[in-house]
Amino acid sequence: MKLHDFPRHPLTFGPSPVHHLARLSMHLGGAQVWAKREDVSSGLAYGGNKVRKLEYIVPDVLASGADTLVSIGGYQSNHTRQVAAVAAHLGLKARLVQEKWVPWEDPTNDKVGNILLSRMMGADSRLDDAGFDIGIRDSWKTALQEVEDAGGVPYPIPAGASEHPLGGLGFANWAFEVAEQEKQLGVFFDTIIVCTVTGSTHAGMIAGFAALEYLTGVRRRVIGIDASATLEKTRDQVARIARSTASLIELGRDLRDDEIEVLEGWAGDLYGIPVESTMAAMALGAQLEAMITDPVYEGKSLAGLVDLVRSRDIPQDSTVLYAHLGGQPAINAYWRLWN
Ligand SMILES: *Cc1c(COP(=O)(O)O)cnc(C)c1O
Repeated sequence: MKLHDFPRHPLTFGPSPVHHLARLSMHLGGAQVWAKREDVSSGLAYGGNKVRKLEYIVPDVLASGADTLVSIGGYQSNHTRQVAAVAAHLGLKARLVQEKWVPWEDPTNDKVGNILLSRMMGADSRLDDAGFDIGIRDSWKTALQEVEDAGGVPYPIPAGASEHPLGGLGFANWAFEVAEQEKQLGVFFDTIIVCTVTGSTHAGMIAGFAALEYLTGVRRRVIGIDASATLEKTRDQVARIARSTASLIELGRDLRDDEIEVLEGWAGDLYGIPVESTMAAMALGAQLEAMITDPVYEGKSLAGLVDLVRSRDIPQDSTVLYAHLGGQPAINAYWRLWN
């Protein structure tokens, strides 16, 4: 197993904190719920899950001689904000394509939150009115070309850093970090809940926990909660990236289909638009734990967790780890939800 042979450029304070959500667990009356917090684990512009993926991509960026990171996302993309942060941290430029992925008609949607932070960090962030798609787009090929035409050397980082060959490594390593923290805390998380959209967070975890299972014989459930509302695309992408990451780290076996579990039911009809269960989960997290989640991603995965624990689909004697992947800056563009 080769995971530890890949170079990692540290961008976090260290392992992300893990803590018990005592009041939420009591309220749900089932399994014990804990959280692991990617939202508070890096000093780079509020951090989040993309920083952890970028830790394994930055060595390749530096080796390439690039001077400009080029990436793409929605207007309120957390990913592009984290790319802008890493660029600032490394002394590189950032060129961001921000597409209209979400039909959220708020006049502040392309001005506050993530996009404001990216611009503050000096990124060249430009709007494009194309709609949601987790695949590769022409708009960012144009952006790459523009950087080259201006004499720069671009380094392309696809949406969510997921299509990047090294994009799954950050969360494969997350699995090993969890195992270390379990030893320190004296707990065992039999179930992991994670939000999934472009797929490499969940996929990396699947590969990482498979490697752990190989070493320790212990199995667990890694449940992805779809927030893309394009379930089949996301499921295919998770399966593909999980398998490519598993072979990259030389897992030494094929992944079983039952290891790739993406559940639907909490995304609503559209990516980026909260539904009733999203709002209810966001309110529970905030009011019971002061744990802030966003309406695009984490509110939806928290809604999945709430229902799975309440329905005892996750049994009462389970200990669940909720992967909090960040995303709070976007709530500024969703001020209407609580006003
Ligand atoms: C990007 C993101 C996700 C989804 O992660 P993927 O790797 O794209 O599936 C979940 N939550 C937050 C806050 C994100 O920024």
